[in-house]
Amino acid sequence: GRPIVAIVGRPNVGKSSLFNRIAGNSHAVVHDTPGVTRDRNYADVEWEDRSFTIVDTGGLDIDPGDQLIDNVQSQVNAALAEASLVLFVVDARTGIMPHDMAVVDKLRASDKPIFLVVNKVDNDRFRNEAAEFYALGLAEPLWTSCVQNDGIRELLDRVVETL
Ligand code: GDP
Ligand code: MG
Repeated sequence: GRPIVAIVGRPNVGKSSLFNRIAGNSHAVVHDTPGVTRDRNYADVEWEDRSFTIVDTGGLDIDPGDQLIDNVQSQVNAALAEASLVLFVVDARTGIMPHDMAVVDKLRASDKPIFLVVNKVDNDRFRNEAAEFYALGLAEPLWTSCVQNDGIRELLDRVVETL
């Protein structure tokens, strides 16, 4: 079947925004997930003659309260189980947060390709300030601004080159 690309990250980093930009830029067909009313979670993407399904795992964000780390961990486990490639989204404006670190070791231990997507880079100031993301020990970061629609097509190019 189509390879699955999963979007993971803690709440509010822009996972759903990235999902919508990827779907929008590629004119993808978007599917609702049964039982999940808040987010539209699956889209079948065609890009440069390649096909994949993008999954916004952020439906797990919706549990309020203090189970956040457990939720992010189970989100990552599910993503690693089903995905061919994982987009790990972080927020350039907040920098690395404890909930980011909760998933980094798990992602690093995987033999699947992990893309570090530094989102909310709406201008170059944030790009310059975001050197700390190199210290996560993942691949070189990709910079996006979902608000500006910047970096999305480059991200799609990299994804289909790697799948
Ligand atoms: P999720 O919880 O990870 O799915 O994050 P959302 O996609 O719901 O976005 C969380 C908030 O960040 C929303 O207010 C978005 O408008 C905002 N946001 C998302 N992407 C960007 C971006 O590139 N730049 C800025 N400035 N805000 C963004
Ligand atoms: Mg979301």
